[in-house]
Amino acid sequence: MSNTDFTLAVEDLTVSFDGFKAIDALNLYIDRNELRVIIGPNGAGKTTLLDLICGKTRATGGSIKFKNEELTRMAEHQRVRLGIGRKFQTPSIYENLSVFQNLEVSYPEGRSVFGALAFRCTEAVRERVQAVAADIGLGERLDTEAGLLSHGQKQWLEIGMLLMQEPELLMLDEPIAGMSARERELTAELLQRICRNRSVIVIEHDMEFVARIAHKVTVMHQGKILAEGPMDKVQADPKVIDVYLGH
Ligand code: ADP
Repeated sequence: MSNTDFTLAVEDLTVSFDGFKAIDALNLYIDRNELRVIIGPNGAGKTTLLDLICGKTRATGGSIKFKNEELTRMAEHQRVRLGIGRKFQTPSIYENLSVFQNLEVSYPEGRSVFGALAFRCTEAVRERVQAVAADIGLGERLDTEAGLLSHGQKQWLEIGMLLMQEPELLMLDEPIAGMSARERELTAELLQRICRNRSVIVIEHDMEFVARIAHKVTVMHQGKILAEGPMDKVQADPKVIDVYLGH
């Protein structure tokens, strides 16, 4: 496979903070419809890597190509428009709006629907809201105030808000933190549904969950990739056991 066939091709990526290389000449290739999980000890550079891909942090060197477009110098909002979605650990939903309204305002043009075209646009938005709500398991909760949802439902709503923008790459930071066993299972199913139409990168510590969802696992350590491959291979790698799994 040539590097131009990947949804995301990160090459020689480096970022330094006061001379400290948090990401050090890293290469990462993500396929279409791939669900990749990134694991590694605290401080390995996992969050920084996602920050670089979404544009929250600027690289010191190297390149990030998304669908063959060079992102490295592109602003964060331009990357969103190109199809990159990022969910952080803390949900940033509007607690006093309904599930429907939270999804509605996340439609790319949903914020400025006024005037003569409003009805037509609203119908399109409504259809998308209903489809996304069904996808995230909140199809029956459209009128519920978001603040009244369970912790897991709030996380799914935020994923739904990102899905409203139809990202082709979705990045999630520890999506099951604080969830019950049932919510974890539903999240695994949700992620598997989501990656049928897009690529997904997840940072995760829960190895049972990683084994459940990952197509491929990337292990990071000290800003570099220590190992990469299917979960069973990575889990048996002595280097990975030494720096991460053995603790
Ligand atoms: P992980 O997500 O794997 O726990 P991080 O990406 O958060 O690791 O951090 C990697 C390293 O980079 C850590 O040593 C962290 O202190 C450092 N780091 C991250 N962001 C900054 C920053 N803005 N300024 C200085 N150091 C940073």
